[in-house]
Amino acid sequence: MYEYVDMHCDTLLNGVMNRSNDLYEMPGSMIDFQRMKAGHTLCQFFAVFFPPKELHEGQHTGLGLTDEELFRQASGLLNSSLNKHEDIIMPAHNYKEIMTNKSNGKMSAVLTVEDGRMVDGKMEMLDMFYSQGVRAIALTWNFSNCFGYPNSSDPEIMNKGLTKFGKEAVQYMNDLGILVDVSHLSDGGFWDVVKYTKKPFVATHSDARAVSSNQRNMTDDMIKALAEKGGVTGINFCIPFLNDTYPPHSGTSRIEDMVRMIKHISNVGGEDIVGIGTDLDGIGGDLEIGSPDKMYLLFDALEKEGFTERQIEKIASGNVLRVIKESMK
Ligand SMILES: [Zn+2]
Repeated sequence: MYEYVDMHCDTLLNGVMNRSNDLYEMPGSMIDFQRMKAGHTLCQFFAVFFPPKELHEGQHTGLGLTDEELFRQASGLLNSSLNKHEDIIMPAHNYKEIMTNKSNGKMSAVLTVEDGRMVDGKMEMLDMFYSQGVRAIALTWNFSNCFGYPNSSDPEIMNKGLTKFGKEAVQYMNDLGILVDVSHLSDGGFWDVVKYTKKPFVATHSDARAVSSNQRNMTDDMIKALAEKGGVTGINFCIPFLNDTYPPHSGTSRIEDMVRMIKHISNVGGEDIVGIGTDLDGIGGDLEIGSPDKMYLLFDALEKEGFTERQIEKIASGNVLRVIKESMK
């Protein structure tokens, strides 16, 4: 039995959209506390994802919320659910709290942000996020913002680096103890994070471009640089990130492809770089692992492929916990 840390899910937006008031049991979601408990989750990162404005204020959520309101509702949903279920899960802001929760037999929840646009070029907004409990921020989603530029099929955008504010903000996040998350960022932005960060950083939910050519994935050079910085990437279960041979919007998120991805990334970056970033509730299609209680299937498959217990333990939790210990406070 392996306990695991999942660095990314979009369950909070799902909960806000469905006007849910308790994350314990959510039949319309892939993740809820009940299935996390059944699946031996050690720690789940819960992202507040800010969808593109035009969608977010329109048909996507249909809620007409400002970013501030969405942040308040999504983080409020997490906090009130944690209050109700403190017998099984507690908030965590650093390594020590995760370990304390674990020793009390409890799971941990870490609040994160996907798309830092609400920061809006103001360093004090990072203080605000920190004080609200946020401990990882994906600098961009698929649009440019005050930090930098997104992953793109347009090489001009893809090669753009961080803004001046973005470079300073990375170091400020290092000082505060908020993890810098490069998933969704442009390649140029990634290389600027490598250059400017003082701490190990993460790609919470990104795979390898050499295995599946999606632009959201990382090149082998990026994987090596992330490893050299002591960072970690979370294996994303999204179908086109795992396997680019299916026609769009088809195929299966297969465990076999996850294992192939993990093998490649550890061959390129070493065994200290792989973690988990399921992206559940943010991805669709046919998923062999579509909820936390199925995670054991991945660990079983790794075991069959010859990964040792020590290596699987690192992939499941050890590698991410190492980065949390170094970069989150
Ligand atoms: Zn994402």
